[in-house]
Order: sequence, then C-alpha cells, then structure tokens
Amino acid sequence: MQGTRIRLIIVGIEGEINLGFIARLAANFRVDEFYLVSPRALPSSPEARRFAANGAYMLDKAIIVNELDEAIKGIGLSACTSAKIGQKGDVVRHAVSAREFAEQIAPRYSSIGLVFGRESVGLTREELAKCDLLVHIPANPDYPVLNLSHAVGIILYELWQSLNKPQLYEKAPEKQLRYIYEKLEPVIDSLVDKERVSQVKAALKHLLWKSGITPGEASLLYYLAKKLKRVIEECEKQ
Ligand code: SAH
Repeated sequence: MQGTRIRLIIVGIEGEINLGFIARLAANFRVDEFYLVSPRALPSSPEARRFAANGAYMLDKAIIVNELDEAIKGIGLSACTSAKIGQKGDVVRHAVSAREFAEQIAPRYSSIGLVFGRESVGLTREELAKCDLLVHIPANPDYPVLNLSHAVGIILYELWQSLNKPQLYEKAPEKQLRYIYEKLEPVIDSLVDKERVSQVKAALKHLLWKSGITPGEASLLYYLAKKLKRVIEECEKQ
C-alpha cells in the first residue's frame, strides 16, 4: 500500500481455513507484513495453504511471535478490532468505525498494525488496552460478530480504498477557485437583487469549493467569468 505500511496481526488464530482465507486477503490487498501471535492453526497446514490459493506465499512470509507486544513494537499506530463496543465508562471499548479509521486516521501514519482476535473469544481486555485505538465494523446490533476472515477483508478493503485512491484527475488549487469567484462577485453585485446577493454569493462559493473541478476546467471558467465581468462593465458604462 502507498505511504502507509500495513502490518496485519492475528492473535491466537484457531482455524486453518480462516488462516488460509486471511493469507489470501493479505495478498489481495498487498499487506506489507503478516504477523501471527501464538497461532493454534499453523501456516504450514495443508488446509491453510489450500484456502490461501495464490496467496500462499503470505503464509511463508508470516512471522510468528509469542506476545502481542512483540507484534506491535515499532509500529506508528496499532489498532485493535472488536465486534463489542463499549458502554459510556468503558473507554477501552470506545471505538472508531472502520471507514473513519481508514479515511481519516490511517493515512496520517507511516505504519499501522491491525490486530484481530481469536475466533472463539476475540481479544482480551488486556490486549485491547495495548493498542492505540479500537476499530469496529458497524453491523446488525443484534449480531455484530463477523467471521474473523470476513472482518479482516472489510477492514483491508476500506484501507485499500482510502490509501490507494486513484487520482483520476488533478484538482484545481484553491487559488484558482478564488480567482473565478473574485471575477464573478462583481457580476453578482451588478445583476442580482440586493436582498439575494449574499445567498447567491454563498451558493457560488459552495458550488466552487465542493466541485473538485480540474485546473483545465477552472481556467475555462475563469475565462468565462472574465468575459462576463467585461460585458457587465460595458453595459454599465452605456
Ligand atoms: N466470540 C468472539 C468473536 C470474535 S470474532 C467475541 O465475542 O469477541 C474474531 C475477530 O474478528 C474479533 O476478535 C475481531 O478481531 C474481528 N471482528 C469480528 N466482528 C467484528 C466487528 N463487527 N468489528 C470489528 N472486528 C470484528
């Protein structure tokens, strides 16, 4: 992944099929490092390799450690995950959503560790407390517990979306939007009824600053705005 390095950390994994699926996801979403903390299912198991399919090389790359501390050492931000989120006073279980994490938090860090728990009991409170924050995938409140590999897939997908956003087109810089606005402002002053001037100006600003137009589009709009302004000035002279 670009910019932010991803370390996927699975604590005490029990199922070989889940392990295989997770290795496949790690390859699908190109995680940089794959850590297993005291795994009960082993990367060498034929079942895991079968379910990993073309991601089996991630099983070979897996680093096995005994404790979560070893897996999160040196990481910029460690994020535990859980289906259970907390009551008011239970700060250890105060969570951010997977999307908020991926879009607003993860890109600010050079490396993140994503920590997932055991199929049977998840992560212990002690383990949750070791992470810098808690990430939750919102789901049916009556049954929010996802299969481990599905939870890994959703979070890696969200991160992939936010960290690899294809820059399809360049956005006009703020300065260019300001130039367009400044050319159109006197046009509004001249044409629009007084009581509506401030509303129309606000609408124009919102339109420009929400638009995400390209520099090419912005320069053509600037050209049009300049022409309009000149026409208005000519009319006012006559
Ligand atoms: N019975 C366990 C279930 C663990 S599910 C429990 O009650 O905690 C296995 C792992 O999948 C969890 O430790 C967590 O890492 C992940 N997971 C499952 N559902 C999730 C959700 N809604 N949000 C975030 N992580 C989830």
